[in-house]
Amino acid sequence: MGQAFLPAGRGAMDILRQLSDRGHEQVIVFNDAASELRGFLAIHSTTLGPALGGVRILPYKREEDALEDVLRLSRGMTYKCALAGLPAGGGKAVIIDHKGLKRTAAFEAYGRLVGSLGGRFFTGEDVGTTEKDLAAIRRATDRVACHSSPALGDISEHTAIGVWHGLRACLKFTGIHKPRVAIQGVGHVGRWLARILAKEGFEILVADVDAKRAKTVAIETGAKVVSPGRILSAKCDVFAPCALGGVINKKTIPKLKVKIVCGSANNVLATEKDGDALARRGILYAPDYLVNAGGVIRGAEFYLLKKKKSWKSIEKIYDRMKRVAVMASARNSSTARMADELACRRLGLP
Ligand code: NAD
Repeated sequence: MGQAFLPAGRGAMDILRQLSDRGHEQVIVFNDAASELRGFLAIHSTTLGPALGGVRILPYKREEDALEDVLRLSRGMTYKCALAGLPAGGGKAVIIDHKGLKRTAAFEAYGRLVGSLGGRFFTGEDVGTTEKDLAAIRRATDRVACHSSPALGDISEHTAIGVWHGLRACLKFTGIHKPRVAIQGVGHVGRWLARILAKEGFEILVADVDAKRAKTVAIETGAKVVSPGRILSAKCDVFAPCALGGVINKKTIPKLKVKIVCGSANNVLATEKDGDALARRGILYAPDYLVNAGGVIRGAEFYLLKKKKSWKSIEKIYDRMKRVAVMASARNSSTARMADELACRRLGLP
């Protein structure tokens, strides 16, 4: 790993201010000259245990965007682990995809970086990674959740099952039976979610910017394909964001025609205020880090607690979702604020 670089237009002090504002412990700026690997690894908190977080690879247009993503995502992981009652903290890594990247060598180099942290950080899949990438990390470190550990199971399946338990609680709370569900993004998690909902006999709409992927999932599950531009405003009971974050914002909220927003994507709300706006519109929002915790629960229980199975722990997402829905309703607040309050309580934060 070679010299570090700083995002264009930002000085070191600016980054330090950002870390201090959001409570991060550490950010590593990494660069491997041989593979042209570049990115950021953020450890937000190890208060409750080692930091857990996947690695995301995207063609970020600006380094600032990659830094912002890693800072938000790693903080979200801290809250996710805290709310799930895990002995773990939050971290994340982002790799900037670009033409010159020698992908296999880059993921091996990233694996060496994770290994060098001596157990302070465990990694795994996230948006853009493939099994081949995870296998490359695995050659350099065993601190990665990947399919070459068969006893671990498929992390995305665990995540999708968790989203399903959260959705069950939302359906119960709103009194909706047999809903029509719009899934945005049918990658690792969205595809599993579609399978689960199809088994339940629910009507499903799917959209993906990768049209072939949407079609494959539709054939497998009987879902109807909708264009990516129309999925958010589809007339349904549930919108399940399973692609990227920020999809619920002041522009998209008026377009929603659903009663529930519940999916796997991280950072679904562009801002905290968007959670309030959903509540005002009478839309029940399943806090992202509450319902998408299934994968991290499995990872933490497998690696840190040596548990053979985690299905029972993941099922508890149902009770947590029910709890925040009841709290929000009683206090005329948003479910997002209630989830934050519970997570902060466990972290000892104000
Ligand atoms: P993925 O990359 O496998 O799938 C994302 C899918 O969304 C892809 O098929 C992509 O083509 C599609 N997509 C991107 N932009 C889109 C758009 N505008 N409209 C429609 N489709 C779009 O990623 P994943 O692992 O399934 O993760 C999905 C989300 O869930 C991410 O936000 C991730 O951070 C979060 N998450 C994943 C896990 C996990 O176990 N994989 C755990 C917790 C949270």
